[in-house]
Parts: sequence; structure tokens; C-alpha cells
Amino acid sequence: DEMGIRELLSEILADEGHSVTLAENAATARKMRNEKRPDLVLLDIMMPDMDGFEVCRTLKQDPLTSPIPIIFITSRSQEQDEVIGFQAGAVDYIVKPFSPVIVRARIKTHAELSCLRKKLEYQSYCDGLTGIANRRQLDMSLNRCWDFALREGIPLSCIMIDLDHFKQFNDLYGHLAGDDCLRRVATVLKGELHRHTDIVGRYGGEEFCCLLPGTDQNGVRQIADKFQTAIQTLDIRHAGNSAAPYVTISQGVATCFPHFSLKAESLLITADKALYAAKIAGRNRTETTESDMALNG
Ligand code: GH3
Ligand code: MG
Ligand code: MG
Repeated sequence: DEMGIRELLSEILADEGHSVTLAENAATARKMRNEKRPDLVLLDIMMPDMDGFEVCRTLKQDPLTSPIPIIFITSRSQEQDEVIGFQAGAVDYIVKPFSPVIVRARIKTHAELSCLRKKLEYQSYCDGLTGIANRRQLDMSLNRCWDFALREGIPLSCIMIDLDHFKQFNDLYGHLAGDDCLRRVATVLKGELHRHTDIVGRYGGEEFCCLLPGTDQNGVRQIADKFQTAIQTLDIRHAGNSAAPYVTISQGVATCFPHFSLKAESLLITADKALYAAKIAGRNRTETTESDMALNG
């Protein structure tokens, strides 16, 4: 809450190339967390409206703000205060009056750690080649979408997508061209989805999976058709494809109303069966398995 300290810290941070947002009290700081999620928070303890420990605990309790590192900058130099600060979830504790050089060094360390942490988190959820969701994120999304649809009593649809004769594509044009093709396909599939609850990810190799909560049989069919057309429009030459002279996809779709007696995986299994049927029927098409046992209990 001290303006002089805020300005001094702001200068130190700006010197390091950080962009700084200032809050003059706890209430403003708490409001701000909803607007912009900072990479690092510097927090006072003694403030007129609420103490910094409490602000720190609030930020740590919210899953959206809990990963943000918090550094206390305070004139409270008692060991017990420092203990409370760390117990509240802070990563560092700096006592005023501080040396700008030391503050700069500590902030640099925590900012770098925060940045690395974000990168790791991104890598653990995103496919390295295509940048869309990876298998891990898809698995987690399936369970989340399933529970959501079960609670809301809405349908959940799934599309399994597989590139046709992709081994041939690699054999003909090389693996780098294959990788490039996978990236373009991923971008196009993602570009066709507009609801924030829809997700498409790389299931493995040259297979993609799309989950659509609140989408029924007609809706999923429309999305699958859009996928098919969009890939066709990419017009990537593929002389080894038996279905067309360009890259095509085969798709299996499944829809269900999640139920306690069913397992989320049954939706994927059903879509996979439909995908197999699409391959057998000649590729470059979408199939649905009507009234599948796994989905009808
Ligand atoms: P089908 O029409 O029956 O699906 O035939 P397919 O050749 O696409 O299927 P198959 O499962 O036999 O082969 C998949 C191929 O996908 C094998 C591999 O060459 C290619 N592939 C898988 N992952 C990657 C990747 O990350 N990069 C590249 N370039 N190719 C990949
Ligand atoms: Mg495959
Ligand atoms: Mg394939």
C-alpha cells in the first residue's frame, strides 16, 4: 500500500523487461486476478484493508491463480512472520528495506522458474508436433466432458479421425512431408471447432479424436462433414491413396447420453468401431455404428 515502494519495485521490474500492474490495496489486487493472470505477484503484508497473508491464501486456494508465485515484500522481519508467509504459500520473503540488486536477482529466479513451469505444463498437455491437445489432455477431457454431460443430461459425441494410407504418404514423400501434413490437418480440424467446450487432439500417430459435449447425432455428423471437406480443400497431393489423389480422412462417429452404467471409454470404442467400418467401406468417408451395445447398456 506504500506508493514509494510500489514505484520503486515497478522501476526494478520494468528495468528487467517485465510489464507491471500496480494495486494500491488488497481489494484491488483481488479484483485484478480475475482480469489478468500475472506471472509473479509481489505482496505486502500490512495493508489497511486486508493482510497480505490472507490475500496469499485466497490466491492459492483458487485453481486459476494457485500456480502464480507470490513473493512477500514486507517490513515484518520476525521469523514467525516469515514462517506464516511460507505456510500461506509464498515462494520467497524479502524484508524491507531491501537492496534493489537482491530483489532483482530473486525476482529473476522466480520469473524464470515460473516461465519454465508454464512451458512444462504446456508440453504435458500439447502434442509436440501439431501443437493441439495430446493424448493425455484428451483422456482428461473425456472424463470431464463425460461427467459434465451426465450432470446436465446432454449428449456427448466423439469423432475418431484417421488419415488414409498415411504410411504410403511417408513412403512416397518422406517423413518430414508427413509431419508437415499432420500439422496442417491438425490446424484445419481445430479451426472447424467454435464452441469452447469442443476439443480436438492427436490421439496417436496419424489419428485424431474430437469430443463434442452437447452435440447430438445430427450435429456431430455436420462437424464430421466439415472436417472431411476442410481436409479435402487442403488439397495435399497423395498418389498412394486408393480413395482419392489427395490426402483424405476416414472418420468414425459415436453419440451417447452418458449414464452411470456406462464407461466413458465405451464412447471411444464405439467411434473406433465406426472408423474401422469406414476404412472397410473404402475410406474417405464417415461411418456411424447404429445402436451399439456398449453405448446402450
Ligand atoms: P489406413 O488407411 O488403413 O489408415 O492406412 P495407414 O497407412 O494410414 O495406416 P497404418 O496404421 O498402417 O500406418 C500409419 C502410418 O502413419 C505409420 C507411420 O508411417 C505414419 N505416422 C504415424 N505417426 C507419424 C508421425 O508422427 N509423423 C509421420 N510423418 N508419420 C507418422
Ligand atoms: Mg491409424
Ligand atoms: Mg491411417
